Parts: sequence; C-alpha cells; structure tokens
Amino acid sequence: TLSDRLTTVFSSLRGKGRLSEEDINATAREIRLALLEADVALPVVREFIAQIKERARGEEVSKALNPAQQVIRIVNEELVEILGGATREIRYAKNPPTVIMLAGLQGAGKTTLAGKLAKWLGAQRNTPLLVAADLQRPNAVTQLQVMGQRAGVPVFAPEPGNGVGDPIEVARGSVEHARRNNHNVVIIDTAGRLGVDAELMRQAADIRDAVTPDEILFVVDAMIGQDAVNTAQAFLDGVGYDAVALTKLDGDARGGAALSIRHITGRPIMFASTGEKLEDFDLFHPDRMASRILDMGDVLTLIEQAQRTFEQEEVEKMASTLASDDDFTLDDFLEQMMMVRKLGPIGNLLGMMPGMGQMRDQINNVDDKDLDRVAAVIRSMTPAERANPKIINGSRRLRIANGSGTQVGDVSGLVTRFFDAQKMLRQMKSGGGFPGMPGMPG
Ligand code: GDP
Ligand code: MG
Repeated sequence: TLSDRLTTVFSSLRGKGRLSEEDINATAREIRLALLEADVALPVVREFIAQIKERARGEEVSKALNPAQQVIRIVNEELVEILGGATREIRYAKNPPTVIMLAGLQGAGKTTLAGKLAKWLGAQRNTPLLVAADLQRPNAVTQLQVMGQRAGVPVFAPEPGNGVGDPIEVARGSVEHARRNNHNVVIIDTAGRLGVDAELMRQAADIRDAVTPDEILFVVDAMIGQDAVNTAQAFLDGVGYDAVALTKLDGDARGGAALSIRHITGRPIMFASTGEKLEDFDLFHPDRMASRILDMGDVLTLIEQAQRTFEQEEVEKMASTLASDDDFTLDDFLEQMMMVRKLGPIGNLLGMMPGMGQMRDQINNVDDKDLDRVAAVIRSMTPAERANPKIINGSRRLRIANGSGTQVGDVSGLVTRFFDAQKMLRQMKSGGGFPGMPGMPG
C-alpha cells in the first residue's frame, strides 16, 4: 500500500545527512510508484512529484529535523495542499431555505448521505427537509423515508397513489413547502444510474434549473478508484457542482480518488462518509486525509511537540530505553508514563505515534488520577519488585496496596497492564521499531 511504501522510503532515509540529489530522486521514484498504485491519476502524480522535488531541493537543512523527517513534513504539507488545504464549510443562502442538491451514480451513497447530512445539520440547530426526487426506483422514496425517520427529519415526497410523479415538480414543490414550514435547509436526493448517461444528466440538470441550488454536491464512492475521476468529470460537464462528498472511506480505498478528484475538478471535497450508520459522517479534513494516506499518524506534530517539551537528551534516553534489549522494568514504565503526561493528553499523543494503536488503547484507559495512583503503587514497591514484577505475590501485593493507599486490585491491575505493555514492546521491537521518532533506531 501507499503507506507501506512511504514507510519504506522514509526508513531508508533515516540516519542520513543532508538530502542529496540522488536521495531526492530515489525518494521521488518510490513516492511516484506508491501514488500510482493508490490509483492517483497520472497528471496529479506528476505535479505532486515535481512539487516535492522542488521543495526538497530548496529546503534548508533543519537543525531540528533529520532529512527523513524533513521529507515527511514536505510530503505531508503537499498532500494537505493538494487535498484542498482548509476544510470547506456549507454556504448558506441569505434567504432561506438553503437548497442542497445531491448528484451522483447509483450506489454512490446519495440517499445514505442525505440522511447523514440531515442529521448533522439538525444537530446544528437547522430545520432540514429531505426531498425524495429519486422517483426512478420504486423503493427509493421508502429508503429516504427510513433515513428521515432515523435522522428525525421530515421527508417531502410525492403523495402515494398519484402515480410516479415528476422529480422536477417534487423538487420545486419542496422549496415552496420548506419556505412555508420554516425549514431552513432543503436536501434533495436525486436518481442515479449505473453509468453516466445523457438521460441522467438531463434530469439532474433540470432539477438544478428548477431550484437553483446553493450547493450541488457530487457524491462519489471512494472505492471506485480511477473511475471516480472520469465520473467526476462527466458530472462536472453535465450538471456542474460546487463540492464533493466522498463515501465509503471506511473501505480500503487508498485515498487516490480524493487526491485526483480535487486536483482534476478543482472542486473541494466537503464531506467524508465512513460507514452505513448515520453517525459515520463528518466534514472532510484535508490534514486528516493526508495522515490517512501516509498512515503514519501525525508524525510531524509528534516530533515538534516532543522537541518543545523535552530536552534532546531526555528524548534520546526514552528512545534508547524503548529500543534497548534490556528488559523493560516498572521503573521504565513509570518514567515513560510521566513523560507521556508531560507531553499532553495521553490519548492524543499516542494516537500520533505510528504503530501505537494498541498501546494507546492500553494507556487510553489511564486518566491523570489513575496515573497518580499508578505512581503511588510503583513507588511503594521495593527496587527488586520494580525490576522483576514476577515476584509480586499475594502478600507483597497487600503490603504495596497498604503502603500506597490503594486496593490490592489496583496493584494486580497495574502489574497485568505492565506485562501487557512489556509484551507489546517486545513485539514492536522485533517488528522494526518506531519510524520517525528522533533518535529512534529503526
Ligand atoms: P445511492 O444509490 O447513491 O442513493 O446510494 P445509497 O445511499 O443507496 O447507498 C448504496 C449502498 O452503499 C447502501 O448499501 C449503503 O448502505 C452503502 N453506503 C453508503 N455510504 C456508505 C459508506 O460511507 N460506507 C459504507 N460502508 N457503505 C455505505
Ligand atoms: Mg438513492
């Protein structure tokens, strides 16, 4: 995958001096292949690589970062840039209702997205109205009604028994209805086809002309890879749109679609859909997507934060403890937890560290009060117990609990957690260490 490749590139750079032309070319080649593998369109890859090369050459030697970290930063920044920079917000109409129209192929996730968007808007004190303008398939209206029910948002649909109905009339009528009933946002779900065709485009364009939407959202399945670009272009020509909603990002889509669509259409990606539930939805954050594509967590933020907070020696000490072959002791465990606390919220920090997901889940359950208790327990142990917690039997546990003002269960829980952490560390060490950490042998 892209992230694997990039990780390989970066680890081969680690420990080098300043980036040479040769380094830059080798890195660029790897990144190029990686992006192509991730289904990023060729023109986008070319431009991206040119950008990276130019910046890598012009970059001054950083005192704070080694060359690999410098490249990570450049790649990350350029990814964010190419994904659109800042998050794009909805533009509300001066005179409500704000009309949002969804367009896209069948199965792209329009109807689901309509429900998600309605719920999301409702939570922000809007009074949305869902509109069933997909009258192509018999159950399309019902599907939207189910979404509306779950989202707690009313659905405007043609009266049953009135025949099939005309989607353009429904759309037009819905805006009137919204105005009379104080709905400040109208979300129009439209019909899709399996492929791009003229009839589909005509209908969407007619709905557009009937209601002049404030936002037309092109909804596209991130899993369809290169095809997403062609479809995006066809809808841009046939209907036009203001922004893009990427769906099915919970699948193993590698981010290529996001990179390409943004670049080729010039339209920002506004929403990201990450599952079938209504809650699996958020504004699209280019920085998060870049991290996802790199799949390294926000390594750079971690590096910067670490450098601000620690003296370099401290960092190196922690790194060498974690990387050394000596067994990890309870003293190390305590020290590490304290350092982690110094760095900021435990969960955030560990979330930024690549490969630390498991560790985070472990330590995430530890809040500050918990940490004080852990410290008290460890400080009540003898040096022998700290160095070799296996000797902590029942009577020792009781003594430690009494000495630290905790319960025997706290002592046992800590020891268990420590053994888990130790095991995890051994696994990580045998798995190649921690990419990107300053002073960390890879
Ligand atoms: P439409 O034809 O464009 O209206 O697409 P639908 O909203 O009916 O979605 C098609 C299928 O994709 C449905 O089975 C949805 O549950 C599913 N779906 C939609 N969005 C997502 C998503 O973000 N993740 C996943 N895993 N499935 C999704
Ligand atoms: Mg639908």
